Amino acid sequence: MEKVRCLIIGGGPAGYTAAIYTARAGVEPVLYEGMEPGGQLTTTTTVENYPGFDKGIDANMLMGTMRGQAERFGTDIRRGVVTSADLSSRPFRIVVDEKDEISADSIIIATGASAKYLGIPSETEFHGRGVSACATCDGFFYRKKDVAVVGGGDTACEEASYLANLCNKVYMIVRRDVFRASKAMQDRVASTKNIEILWNCNTQEVLGDKSGVTGVRLLRKDGKVFDIKVDGFFLAIGHHPDSELFGKWVETDEKGYIITKGKTSETNVEGVFAAGDVQDSRYRQAVTAAGSGCQAALDAEKFLIAHKN
Ligand code: NDP
Repeated sequence: MEKVRCLIIGGGPAGYTAAIYTARAGVEPVLYEGMEPGGQLTTTTTVENYPGFDKGIDANMLMGTMRGQAERFGTDIRRGVVTSADLSSRPFRIVVDEKDEISADSIIIATGASAKYLGIPSETEFHGRGVSACATCDGFFYRKKDVAVVGGGDTACEEASYLANLCNKVYMIVRRDVFRASKAMQDRVASTKNIEILWNCNTQEVLGDKSGVTGVRLLRKDGKVFDIKVDGFFLAIGHHPDSELFGKWVETDEKGYIITKGKTSETNVEGVFAAGDVQDSRYRQAVTAAGSGCQAALDAEKFLIAHKN
């Protein structure tokens, strides 16, 4: 069985940064990128708040550069999805793509988070045929059409603003009578003429036919049920951490975020570290994920030195 000193799971800002640091320290890390190389950031367009880019930077370019930097120092970056993990004893045992076994002296979990869905059957039925959780990936298909965005947070406001540039009309379906989003994002939405906010509304059903989504049936808090006609239905109701594989061994909070000790990246399993959105329900920014990837790398290096055999 192949054995590595440090296995990094996840190819987002946290994983790549952990790779840059561990590789430069001579640890020769192996990194599995998972299903979404580049991580969640690749589902957006321009990143304006990552320090160092005064004019902003294309998200894919930013991630490609981080990846290249990790490779330059010798990280072995591999396509592949970790499908199971046994963290009961060291070296830890990981299975990739349900077939390849690999053992590791230390592990950095940087698997990130995934978009949440409402969980109604019609949403599943029309997934990929009008239902999407990524406006910047799929908005292009709805140029000059009417669409709806569910959610009242920063993501929903950002996605609605993005879609408003492309589409004829954007409905925002908000379950309360207030936004959760920051004031700046609320103001942006309020000043966009082709966004209409449907307050106090919940989605009962996504309507459609063979061609895909044709509308949404909504239930307003006062009991009124009504339909809107749209071709696209975008979810922007938050994310859940991708920690399921490790939940048997690694302590998580009630939402599934991996618990790290104090200011470190250490989990309750010695030799297993967590970085990025999988352990951060609060900040969830590319730059904070990168920062925590750095912390995990430094913690892993220290651990490997202390447990040299
Ligand atoms: P949030 O958790 O902040 O917001 C989720 C929104 O979806 C809320 O309005 C919530 O309603 C609503 N919602 C949740 N579940 C349902 C449901 N089942 N049905 C209908 N509505 C639902 O998630 P975001 O992804 O918007 O943001 C996550 C974090 O990322 C935040 O900290 C945010 O500030 C940050 N962010 C920052 C950006 C930036 O700075 N440019 C851009 C995007 C995100 P309710 O309020 O009633 O709970």
